[in-house]
Amino acid sequence: MRRLPRKILLWLARSDRLRERLSSLPFMQRAVRRFMPGDTMDDALGAAVALQVLGIGTIYTKLGEALTELSQAQDVADHYLELLARIKTSELDGEISVKPTQLGLDIDEDACLAHLRTLAAAAEAQGSYLWIDMEDSSYVDRTLDLYQRLRATHPRTGICLQAYLRRTAKDVERLLPVNPAIRLVKGAYDEPEGVAFQHRREVDANYLGIAVTLLREGRTRPLRIGLGTHDAELVRQIASHAGAAGIPKGDFEVQMLYGIRAKEQRALARDGFRVQTLIAYGPAWYRWYMRRLAERPANVLFALRQLLP
Ligand SMILES: Cc1cc2nc3c(=O)[nH]c(=O)nc-3n(C[C@H](O)[C@H](O)[C@H](O)COP(=O)(O)OP(=O)(O)OC[C@H]3O[C@@H](n4cnc5c(N)ncnc54)[C@H](O)[C@@H]3O)c2cc1C
Repeated sequence: MRRLPRKILLWLARSDRLRERLSSLPFMQRAVRRFMPGDTMDDALGAAVALQVLGIGTIYTKLGEALTELSQAQDVADHYLELLARIKTSELDGEISVKPTQLGLDIDEDACLAHLRTLAAAAEAQGSYLWIDMEDSSYVDRTLDLYQRLRATHPRTGICLQAYLRRTAKDVERLLPVNPAIRLVKGAYDEPEGVAFQHRREVDANYLGIAVTLLREGRTRPLRIGLGTHDAELVRQIASHAGAAGIPKGDFEVQMLYGIRAKEQRALARDGFRVQTLIAYGPAWYRWYMRRLAERPANVLFALRQLLP
């Protein structure tokens, strides 16, 4: 039963007609503020200042995906270059996370790689870091390929892998030779049973197994491991595996989204974990926000409450 609302919300996320209609409704614009400090780079940087005071670092994502023209990808790359410069001048502990389709993957793969190289070089020069998001399963091969090519020359780059995909444990093995930085998430898209585990129990078990493998491998090679989840119980379980194996807290980090489990983020930071909050911003929030609703359909009630005066 829990899966049906999720599937419906993810189906709604793909509708361009609904995107046009719903994005302009004031109650939706109020509801999305729970997960986004605002539409602009200034809004995102402003939210980061408050987090930095609490010892929490930030990762920034400008929303938007599946572009149709290469000139739009150039605009996105320029935006991130400006953002990296602003992170540096604001003396923030900040990194960036990009979607390959936002940099033109659907239109021209070489152009997309060129943008990734430019952003990786800028991130390196400014002591920052470039993360690559993982989109739906039709993009996984191309995204892994881009990352392997990028990582060969740009070590301050990481990739997101999704524990709901049956293939992910093998993808980790494939990436290990490049000493990757991996952000492990559960996965946010609607995927068929042949491709992805459908039950939370299976996804969590796969997540735990992959995280433990990464921690073990991290003892003999320089991996960066990001646990991208709000599942505090799972994080504590992984931390206790690490503790039992003598792996220090500093060997992995916890990454969560802005507006979700904020208290837990602060508690983990107080307990000595490296915590990063991913701040998404920008006017193209519709698909991203619908995926947040799908993760917790109870959020729909919160959105509907914004209809009240
Ligand atoms: C830093 C970061 C980067 C990500 N990048 C990607 C990516 O590149 N590709 C991708 O497919 N997915 C990405 N995701 C999303 C991810 O795949 C999951 O869909 C999302 O994190 C929800 O799963 P969960 O791990 O939090 O666990 P769940 O089991 O879904 O949730 C655990 C608990 O967290 C809380 N929670 C979770 N989601 C919400 C929510 N939306 N609203 C309120 N409470 C919530 C609830 O209390 C829930 O019980 C990212 C997530 C994070 C944190």
